[in-house]
Amino acid sequence: MRRPFHRRGRNANQPNPAVEAAKLFAEDETCPRCGKPLALCICDTVEKVDNEVEVLILQHPQEQDKLLGTARLAAVALAKATSRVGLSWPSLAKALGRPADPSRWAILYLGGSEENEGAKKREVTLVGRKGETIGDQGKTLAGLEGIIVLDGTWSQAKTLWWRNPWVLKARRLILNPAKPSLYGKLRNEPRKEGLSTIESAGFALARIEGRPEIEAALDDIFARMLYRYRSEVADRRKAARAGDAGSEPDAGETAADEGE
Ligand SMILES: [Zn+2]
Repeated sequence: MRRPFHRRGRNANQPNPAVEAAKLFAEDETCPRCGKPLALCICDTVEKVDNEVEVLILQHPQEQDKLLGTARLAAVALAKATSRVGLSWPSLAKALGRPADPSRWAILYLGGSEENEGAKKREVTLVGRKGETIGDQGKTLAGLEGIIVLDGTWSQAKTLWWRNPWVLKARRLILNPAKPSLYGKLRNEPRKEGLSTIESAGFALARIEGRPEIEAALDDIFARMLYRYRSEVADRRKAARAGDAGSEPDAGETAADEGE
């Protein structure tokens, strides 16, 4: 079932920690809200963030990185958010399940700020479909009804982009965060700026709405998700090693089946 997730940037000979960790939770029940194994679910600690600008997250069907994905957690955390799994929808309205005008929406652009000189100087930049910087950034940002975030690996996100031509009717929002993702080395991200879906949404919303507390709240939720992940994985590895110690030596930590 589970496929290898993050080929980009990771040497094929290196063990993939996400795949290795997924095996530790293969038998677990999952939370119906966030889709994570119950041991990794932090839903009950999440306080809703009251965003005004809506968020639509389109998740590639093969992404499904239950352990480290953040699409569904972002939807749990945000008052106005929709998370959909699929490859294509005929229109923004169909993806949202209600009427919507794509020209009032912005899609988080997959490219980085390097393609646009002006975008290097700003934290967020709205560009049109030819990559031209939109004139009155402040006014256009303030007029946005929602943002679209593509969730998946780099190539999955690109597939979603091209399979949904209506995204071309939306503005593009280039993010230029000074901070690195909290993921660290846990996974490679589709977005050039390297943020997770929940971090990207928080970064963009905070600047569109002028409310830094949105970003702080989502980053805090993400940090707690990662903390839970790291401690639970460490505990289970330890338990697996203890279990293996008596029978087969060396079956625990190395998980060298993915690697050398
Ligand atoms: Zn949950």
